Amino acid sequence: MTGDVFIDSPNVSDAPTPSEDGMGCHSAGKMEAAARSAGKSQILDQYAADYPQGPHDKPQSMCPAFGSLRVGLRMRRVATVLSGSACCVYGLTFVSHFYGARRSVGYVPFNSETLVTGKLFEDIRESVHAMADPEKYDAIVVTNLCVPTASGVPLRLLPNEINGVRIVGIDVPGFGIPTHAEAKDVLAGAMLKYAREEAEAGPVATPESGKSDRPTVALLGEMFPVDPISIGAMLDPMGLAAGPTVPCREWRELYAALDCGGVAAIHPFYTAAVREFEAAGRSIVGSAPVGHDGTAAWLAGIGDAFNVGADKIAEAQNKFLPAIKGALAATPINGTITLSGYEGSELLVARLLIESGANVPYVGTACAKSAWSEADRDWLEAKGVKVKFRASLEDDCSAMEAINPDLAIGTTPVVQKAKERGTPGLYFTNLISARPLMGPAGAGSLAQVVNAAIGNKGRMDTMREFFEGVGNGDTAGVWEGSPNVDDGFRAHRKKKHEKAARAAKAAEMI
Ligand code: SF4
Repeated sequence: MTGDVFIDSPNVSDAPTPSEDGMGCHSAGKMEAAARSAGKSQILDQYAADYPQGPHDKPQSMCPAFGSLRVGLRMRRVATVLSGSACCVYGLTFVSHFYGARRSVGYVPFNSETLVTGKLFEDIRESVHAMADPEKYDAIVVTNLCVPTASGVPLRLLPNEINGVRIVGIDVPGFGIPTHAEAKDVLAGAMLKYAREEAEAGPVATPESGKSDRPTVALLGEMFPVDPISIGAMLDPMGLAAGPTVPCREWRELYAALDCGGVAAIHPFYTAAVREFEAAGRSIVGSAPVGHDGTAAWLAGIGDAFNVGADKIAEAQNKFLPAIKGALAATPINGTITLSGYEGSELLVARLLIESGANVPYVGTACAKSAWSEADRDWLEAKGVKVKFRASLEDDCSAMEAINPDLAIGTTPVVQKAKERGTPGLYFTNLISARPLMGPAGAGSLAQVVNAAIGNKGRMDTMREFFEGVGNGDTAGVWEGSPNVDDGFRAHRKKKHEKAARAAKAAEMI
């Protein structure tokens, strides 16, 4: 083991050749064609159905595989092994540790020879055999990144289990999985499928936390830790309890999740996970208990799914809705906000902002439209909000520029663009989605950070004036005097780029 990444191949000295690493995030079309001719059509067709792509066919955010990697790294007694180009694995490992993984990431490297001769698959198989220690692990997750997927490395041929350690192999290519949110679903779905088949075959272990004596609602989507507790409190008057949150933190929770009475698709992009729950006979309720209207509708939907009766639903609503209304009124938000992100919870946050008093003309989400966000879309559109699914970075930036909001909540490049204009910006992933959103606790949780950011407009203007002209175009960097601009050279380069782009387009059509 070498620090955070352990090398488990006989060919540790052979670095991937440039031709392997040259096929990266921006070669999506070529990689997909290669993967299909290498026997991956079935899985790519499944991904195309589960995660329909939008205006962009390549990742516009971080590597999608980070989603599934993070899900594996957060599980107890689960090892994760990546198979991919060294640069991809370096980036994924770096980001994992940036977000505090505190766990090793396994890596089986390859070179041109091991890739094309099938030796890479043998190396992966050797690695999982060497790692499969039931004292340490319940499961080992092996992930094919772009290049091994495009080369058809057949993880399905790995043994299902070794010494009682489950082996879960998944393909998570950037050319089939559009966002890191949806990559979480790839692994969550694969694990639920495995656990469902185990449960169908015979008795399975109960989770360490024990079994609830009430019917449970399994929760789909990673949430702020207090949110499942808030949801549990809101379910209590209906005689229900919050079940495990999927993605789970330990293998045995998967059985408990499947054993639920119904599923709340809090985040709406878990298509593969929903398929497994439906195969287990569970019904799915969309949207989430956010704000007054969202909570009222969600409690009614859950109550109906569990047939608890109108009086019990009303009891839950009467207990919590006044508190939510009070919290929203006590923490108003005034201002126009554009909102975009790739976490899948964008529509829920927009509902909360609007109920807090904000004007939200635009919501963009990098995730696809799904049946479980329909209620949120309807509610937002009825309030005049433009909701854009599979929004591209260009969509989000042009909405922000056209609306000129008091605050732009978005991904890093959107926030960067906003700040360049002197518009306050907040990064969705770190500052918004890492807060409670559900029930009374969520009702007032956004106001402080949002109002503080809107109040910073004066400081943003001062900074923009101070830095005016620095760090942009010809004036980027530190110059003494004016830069030497050669218009002829620029025109020549521009022509060359346009020619190369035309040639690439023509090659795609062949
Ligand atoms: S694995 Fe991720 S970083 Fe590597 S080429 Fe694919 S999408 Fe890009």
